[in-house]
Amino acid sequence: MVAFFNACSPEDGQIFSPYSPTESRYVLPYPIGTAYTCMQSWNGPYSHQDVFYYSVDFSMPVGTVVTASREGTVFYYYDSFYDNDATEGHENILIISHGDSTYSRYIHLTYHGVRVKTGSYVHRGDTLGYSGKSGTPIAHLHFDVTKVCYNRDCQTIPFLFCNTGDQPFGPKTGYEYQAWPYK
Ligand SMILES: [Zn+2]
Repeated sequence: MVAFFNACSPEDGQIFSPYSPTESRYVLPYPIGTAYTCMQSWNGPYSHQDVFYYSVDFSMPVGTVVTASREGTVFYYYDSFYDNDATEGHENILIISHGDSTYSRYIHLTYHGVRVKTGSYVHRGDTLGYSGKSGTPIAHLHFDVTKVCYNRDCQTIPFLFCNTGDQPFGPKTGYEYQAWPYK
């Protein structure tokens, strides 16, 4: 028997509050059963300050499968920077629009690592592409949720992951989060 974690249902919940752990519909951005360590969370001193305050970095090797954290439409992507290019601003990025004026962003993806097309609809858990180390010296996935924004420095907003252990004040730096099955 597989125990499902029901805090994630329903997928297209009309009631959605990114501020509430019991209503949050974000699942971890990697496949069920896998686990990665949060190497920098909210208010992280290295790069999660100011508009980037509510961001999470997961340590993962280049080429790790990245999956959709929340359903939505592929809004934009760029994946032509190289993985050995640590220049700030050279981050490969994929942005999903959730239709409620919020967007989630998957950053530092690998070179030509995006596997979805602009305008296509993705469900939670669908493969989006592969992680990398573009625009950073350390291989990891940066994930955040933003308001409407058309540049790099977008205001991030709080969110919690519903298919893993509690995060009362957001994911914690140094903790590993396993992606649990969900409905
Ligand atoms: Zn980050």
